[in-house]
Amino acid sequence: MPKSTCTISFYRNDLHQTKLSRDRCPVKNCQIDIHRHKAPFQRYKGQMRYVPFCPEHGIRVHNNGFVYYNGPSKSDLETSTKRNLMFHNDHYVENFLRNGNKLESKRLCYENSEDALSYNVFAQLLSNGDALRHLVSYIARRRIVDDVDLYLWGGKIDLKNGTVTKYPPLDRVRQHLEGDIKPFGTEPDIILVVPKQVVICIEAKFGSKNPIAEDKEAREGEKPKRMDRLLERYCRRNTLIDYRTIIDGEKMPKLFYEQLFRNIIFAASMAKLEGSDDWYVVNLRNQHVMNVKRGKPESMPILRNIRSILKPRYKKRFLHLTWEEIFEKVIKGHDGLANLTWYLKNKSLACGRAFNVL
Ligand SMILES: [Zn+2]
Repeated sequence: MPKSTCTISFYRNDLHQTKLSRDRCPVKNCQIDIHRHKAPFQRYKGQMRYVPFCPEHGIRVHNNGFVYYNGPSKSDLETSTKRNLMFHNDHYVENFLRNGNKLESKRLCYENSEDALSYNVFAQLLSNGDALRHLVSYIARRRIVDDVDLYLWGGKIDLKNGTVTKYPPLDRVRQHLEGDIKPFGTEPDIILVVPKQVVICIEAKFGSKNPIAEDKEAREGEKPKRMDRLLERYCRRNTLIDYRTIIDGEKMPKLFYEQLFRNIIFAASMAKLEGSDDWYVVNLRNQHVMNVKRGKPESMPILRNIRSILKPRYKKRFLHLTWEEIFEKVIKGHDGLANLTWYLKNKSLACGRAFNVL
């Protein structure tokens, strides 16, 4: 089995800026013949495959970027994962990777991992609590003075005590709407909660697109794929909220962004359990990717589409934000967040620039 003792993390300036090629290691000046070494990888329930590997730099080289890989053991995976987490990486390994508190918890060693990006940015905002409050105030368009709780993949991140605890309203909404769906129930990437006041669900994208409903029947245990089935399950069978006050059933658009729709239903339902009607859903995207992929699904404007399914009173509960905007509004110039600024400026995606952050 291939192994590597490399523990270094690679950023934009360490990598070739030319279009990624699987012929060589993307690390500058690397002389290793990566085709002489192969490392295994497996998609969810997929077949094991072998891809070129650089033992000197401990990375697998894929078509669309690289993956930190130190070897096949559990502790090798911990090493690889930590290399992609610049902030609070022990907390992640301890609470998510070791005890399986998260689906696909092993994928945070991917260069293009949305989860690793979300963890780095939001855990670091949490450790500068005023920055997280500032972000919530910006989204809710009013001044928030109380502490904000951060939930990643349904777990409350407590950096001081080193723990992760579940969000009971999320569990209750899941039981109510998705009791028969396993293992992939609805899991908002990021939930920001000011107890009894505000609930914000954030669906974060790094390089990928927002999934849409398809004209296909779901298999047993899967979430619905068709729009009518989604509306049936999440709206009509939902007794936590009166969906008719929120969703405008008359105007369903052709492209139905099912993941964002589920986030809206979950945010409204969880807020109800918090005893509040103040909820928001944010689609957080990458401006740089949207610029590069103009005309492709990754850059489709979605604000109007989503707002068209909301009743007038709720239209502005859905927001579109970019990582770059969060940088401008909350991170830039913040004394405690100089290292997060560095991270966003130097983070790579497919070995090139990840963000439009100057
Ligand atoms: Zn190399």
